[in-house]
Amino acid sequence: MKLSALCQRQCKDTAKFRFFSNSEHKNIKKSTKVTCWKCQKCIVLNPSHTYSRRYFCPCERRIILPYTKHTNYFEIYDSLPTFKIDVSKLKSTYLKLQYQFHPDRFSTSSQREQDMAAEHSAVVSTSYKTISNTYSRALYLLLLEGIDLEKTGNTSEIAPEFLMEMFETNEQLEDGLNDRDLIELKLKTHKQISKCYSDLIPAFCNRNFAKAKSIVAQLQYYRNILNKIGDILDANTNL
Ligand SMILES: [Zn+2]
Repeated sequence: MKLSALCQRQCKDTAKFRFFSNSEHKNIKKSTKVTCWKCQKCIVLNPSHTYSRRYFCPCERRIILPYTKHTNYFEIYDSLPTFKIDVSKLKSTYLKLQYQFHPDRFSTSSQREQDMAAEHSAVVSTSYKTISNTYSRALYLLLLEGIDLEKTGNTSEIAPEFLMEMFETNEQLEDGLNDRDLIELKLKTHKQISKCYSDLIPAFCNRNFAKAKSIVAQLQYYRNILNKIGDILDANTNL
């Protein structure tokens, strides 16, 4: 397989991680006010308030307010947009929000309220999926800086030596490895992925997005290799 073909396939494979379009991202504007549809009170959305405090009218605890787009998904969880996050805190906030905005809780409310609850619930769920997963969190943080690795492809970020190494590994996989070698390669790839994640912490922390971009590009290759190994091992088991 030629190098260019390998790169093209990498780009195609990573496309499935798309979760947030560029145009959608550009349209996000920080809204500061919302009018309560019930009491008509103008409510200032205070960014220091928690998500549920912002989206229930103070006039009555059960009155849900319409969703207004956030600057970023981290804001929903009262967290700063960083790579190193407290995953257990994120999960407990997510569960709380899913409960508070769950459409079932509004089953006897008006259609309008049900729609609002459904929208909040969808946003809470998408944002959690995006930032709770280490890999998609890294992609998302780059996206917030205007770097869309899925759109631009990743080949320009990769050192030729690394690309050659990946090319050779892919060739080995295509030629066929025995299960022992496959498991060894799997372990090695897992270690390389862990190293990438460790390196991403200082890269994002120091706002070195060029470095973060190149690490995430490498991660995309490693993840593809892991997927291929998994497919081959599965196929061998079913023989
Ligand atoms: Zn109200």
